[in-house]
Amino acid sequence: MNEHSERTYEVRTHGCQMNVHDSERLAGLLEGAGYRRAPKGEQADVVVFNTCAVRENADNKLYGNLGQLAPKKAARPGMQIAVGGCLAQKDRDTIVRRAPWVDVVFGTHNIGSLPTLLERARVQQEAQVEILESLERFPSTLPTRRESAYAAWVSISVGCNNTCTFCIVPALRGKEKDRRPGDILAEIEALVAEGVIEITLLGQNVNAYGSDIGDREAFSKLLRACGAIEGLERVRFTSPHPRDFTDDVIAAMAETPNVMPQLHMPLQSGSDTILKAMRRSYRQERYLGIIEKVRAAMPHAAISTDIIVGFPGETEEDFEQTLHVVREARFANAFTFQYSKRPGTPAAEMDGQVPKAVVQERYDRLIALQEEISWEENIKQVGRTVEVLVAEGEGRKDDQTARLSGRAPDNRLVHFAPPATGPAPRPGDTATVTISYAAPHHLLAEAPAAGVRRTRAGDAWERRNTTPPAQPGVMLGMPSIGAPAPTPAPASASGCGCD
Ligand code: SF4
Repeated sequence: MNEHSERTYEVRTHGCQMNVHDSERLAGLLEGAGYRRAPKGEQADVVVFNTCAVRENADNKLYGNLGQLAPKKAARPGMQIAVGGCLAQKDRDTIVRRAPWVDVVFGTHNIGSLPTLLERARVQQEAQVEILESLERFPSTLPTRRESAYAAWVSISVGCNNTCTFCIVPALRGKEKDRRPGDILAEIEALVAEGVIEITLLGQNVNAYGSDIGDREAFSKLLRACGAIEGLERVRFTSPHPRDFTDDVIAAMAETPNVMPQLHMPLQSGSDTILKAMRRSYRQERYLGIIEKVRAAMPHAAISTDIIVGFPGETEEDFEQTLHVVREARFANAFTFQYSKRPGTPAAEMDGQVPKAVVQERYDRLIALQEEISWEENIKQVGRTVEVLVAEGEGRKDDQTARLSGRAPDNRLVHFAPPATGPAPRPGDTATVTISYAAPHHLLAEAPAAGVRRTRAGDAWERRNTTPPAQPGVMLGMPSIGAPAPTPAPASASGCGCD
């Protein structure tokens, strides 16, 4: 035990999945240094903000939150506040100028320094600001406190070599750095040994994976290698980029049974003119060509997307092109965003900013069309029998309805009735259910589940919930065990800074 053994922490996460996963690492680092997670409702000794620079007004929100903490800190000697993530990387020492009660500011490239910086701030009684320009070491070598016992994110790369004009990510996360395949597979094997049965490979642009290690087919090879891992039942990935989405990836998806029939493919705009202005190097024809090939190889795949409405210069005709792609592609769902200026991006300086009322009107039309398509596509699922991986915290009304919730292989959300006899499945177990009703954003299986499979993941979930948290240890890159907390919902499916 060290002197911090009784100190508690809280990590507040904003932004994309990349941040959510980084927060798992921050939690792992703090636990490795002897801190323990603050019980719900209790003020933590150390509050860490993992920030996002992508959202409009992100800085105002951060300073508002920091302002609320100032009196709490004044009343609690020894309390520390740290700010990390993309906004910290961008604003640097502005943060301690505007909020001098902040103890530590760290960037996206040195999250591993957090415990040291907290200690230094405590000893020196002075704020520590440390921002590196490039990655210190690959974050996956840091201890990680996974939020889920049955599903895990695994980083395959950080940074991005693209230069989309609406996106701040390349400036803040740097050039793409790929992790070695052997390290990725070793981490997945270790997770599977702990009971995890679903992994999501994570990167800003996953299928550019390999450009840094000189192998253009590295991503499809990685998918196939995941297929050979005994006990790994579900493999997903986010996000690909249409530019790098090659046929070998489609073949690997279709031919590897544990790679799920699901694809999140950011479109952003259906207009070639706007795609060019966004500096997205594919065009409508290529995008639709990919969708066609994916559908031919995996007829049941659910395809989702990200779309930005009202990018500078977008005309009614451009917007019609987006609607055209939406009609053709028949997305299972779409994360839709109204364009807003993000300081520091080229698009923020562009002429032709579209008036808010016009953006809103287009946005409403897009939502109406997509809702209709999502619903029609979900109706096609009625009568199908699917195996649902039971989830924790997915069904907000489960308590009232006595239902359980989880994800079908294609990632559709399914609420279902538990089996008529026998124990209810635990999170991480699977249930075989027949879809009887469809809504635009979820499916229902009203008859009792026909079959429950108790899995190693369900056992792992049960262990987590019945055994006291493990003592902190140094397990580099390995998951540590402890009571789970709900995973913050990602702001965007893409992790692409597009939200
Ligand atoms: S939107 Fe995605 S692909 Fe484009 S620069 Fe940002 S992170 Fe890279």
